[in-house]
Amino acid sequence: MNEYDSEILSGILQNDNYTLTDTPDNADVILLNTCSVRDHAEQKIHSRLGELKHLKTKNPNLKLGVLGCMAQNLKDDILKSKPYVDIVLGPDSYRSILQHLDEEDESVVDTKLLKFEVYEGLFPARKKGINAWISIMRGCNKFCSYCIVPYTRGRERSRNIKSIVEEAHRSVDQGFVEITLLGQNVNSYHYEDQRFHSLLLALTEVKGIKRVRYTSPHPQDVDEDLLKVHADFKPLIANHIHLPLQAGSNTVLQAMNRTYTQKHYLKLVDMIRHYVPDMGITTDVIVGFPGETDADFRETLKVMETVKYDSAYTFKYSPRPHTKAYTMTDDVSEKEKAARLTELIVRQKEHTLYNYRKLIGKEVEILVESESKRSPEELKGRTACNKIVVFPRGTYQAKDLIKRKITDAQGVTLFSRP
Ligand code: SF4
Repeated sequence: MNEYDSEILSGILQNDNYTLTDTPDNADVILLNTCSVRDHAEQKIHSRLGELKHLKTKNPNLKLGVLGCMAQNLKDDILKSKPYVDIVLGPDSYRSILQHLDEEDESVVDTKLLKFEVYEGLFPARKKGINAWISIMRGCNKFCSYCIVPYTRGRERSRNIKSIVEEAHRSVDQGFVEITLLGQNVNSYHYEDQRFHSLLLALTEVKGIKRVRYTSPHPQDVDEDLLKVHADFKPLIANHIHLPLQAGSNTVLQAMNRTYTQKHYLKLVDMIRHYVPDMGITTDVIVGFPGETDADFRETLKVMETVKYDSAYTFKYSPRPHTKAYTMTDDVSEKEKAARLTELIVRQKEHTLYNYRKLIGKEVEILVESESKRSPEELKGRTACNKIVVFPRGTYQAKDLIKRKITDAQGVTLFSRP
């Protein structure tokens, strides 16, 4: 979402005759688009600002801005510790960037949350590639107890379906062949009487799109209507779903306010596999949430064993001020969190390899992306179920849809070699 927001900002600036530079030393404007989901992300921005500070002595006209969730979260506090920052802009205030850049005087903090802002009518300046991100909804109403997003990005609101489809057409005209729909809870999309599956159906009509992906859905809003569209339009609607689990224990899920139980989640996985048996399923897991006992953690491992995810983003719980969980005692020690995380990662690696090896000998459809990092003689691409495949360059070009037989699997990569 931040990448998309940066593309929106880049579009606003480039329309006003700003150009991009490769190096901060040449810049008249430096905007850091930030994340507040974990403390680590905020710490990185603090040290980056420290590194950039000296550029202001070299170029007194340089404007330095902090944008995004950290700006929304810390507001004036950023200026207290870093008075050399010129602009602090929350995620709903990007339309005013040009006005703030023109202001000569004091630093500005603009962090109003606007109930309606979805950046309709602005077109992002996208980086070249095969995939265009398209934001379809913003904000979140779920209030998971550990998460700061509802406070930094406000309540859910969705874009007009017509304008999303127009943006998809425009992306194809610009040479993109894959689109990824974005939203904090992408499948909570709701515009008038249209829901998420109606939007996917509308996008299947856009000529030139080879794949449609989306991220991230909330398990609560995955329904049969959505899965039927997956089944009917595979692989155009990619057979991959990122289904955040966060924890396997019902006690922890309830404390997290995740709105589902382990049983409900596993039933959902069964339903997904009923409609799309070869759906690639990935997840997010947090270990060491306040009160998580070893027995609770074993429940998480149990779900992982049952589902066997293709991959998982795994995190140690990090308390975020302003959230409900911040008031809970962070009672799992760092050592215990680290041990649980290690165990989880080891298990996940086994599952990844298990799933990937099942594809050896099978023919898969690959959307060609770029040269492989390992060798200029090889290219890499992605299956519809979101697995990277490396294969000989041959006469293939980026954006081709090709079919190849899988010959090997190592780590998180499939290989198709002679
Ligand atoms: S669903 Fe939960 S984790 Fe996701 S953005 Fe909303 S509050 Fe945060």
